[in-house]
Amino acid sequence: MSGWVAGVLASIRDDAPADVPCDGCTACCRSSQFIHVTPDDADAVAHIPSALLFPAPGLPAGHYVLGYDERGHCPMLVDDRCSIYEHRPNTCRTYDCRVFAATGIDVTDEKPLVAARVREWRFDESGPAARRTASALEAAARYLAERSGDLPAGTVPVDPTQRAVLAIDVHDMFVTSPEPSPETVAVAITQRRAGGYGRDDADAGA
Ligand code: SF4
Repeated sequence: MSGWVAGVLASIRDDAPADVPCDGCTACCRSSQFIHVTPDDADAVAHIPSALLFPAPGLPAGHYVLGYDERGHCPMLVDDRCSIYEHRPNTCRTYDCRVFAATGIDVTDEKPLVAARVREWRFDESGPAARRTASALEAAARYLAERSGDLPAGTVPVDPTQRAVLAIDVHDMFVTSPEPSPETVAVAITQRRAGGYGRDDADAGA
């Protein structure tokens, strides 16, 4: 589990691709999600019909969103496969639905297909270190859900993916203390965001 957490942190801080064993699962491509396409996604932009790319609200020129069809499917999904897989946007490369399994955040209402896949993930939690990490991840997610009102407005994202990623980012604070003060947590989040995490381009809805 620790290796996976380290990989997620590298992914969210450096936009490193996530190594997710999807095994043909396309639940996230069929879950009515807006895909953020950034100025760094030139290759993806070159492979997505321009009619499918819309300016991303509130973001500078060059940021787009790729929407979904009436079934909630990404328009680049053809015959249940990504038709631009080698050229897909970074949002797709970094998406890892295991963030929900690790944090215990339930997305059954928002993303039932993803939730069904999430229920199948199993982490290796053998050994005290792995169990401590697992407990800290769930404690961080619980804290962000229950104490969001004690943190500065806007600190805790409404979007469950962003909230799960934030919980993973700060879970280390919950290894030794299940209930750090809101002030301490707020300062840590601000510092980590200043270091790169938490940009609006992390996820436009995936
Ligand atoms: S671009 Fe490809 S990987 Fe990304 S959501 Fe669409 S079909 Fe899925």
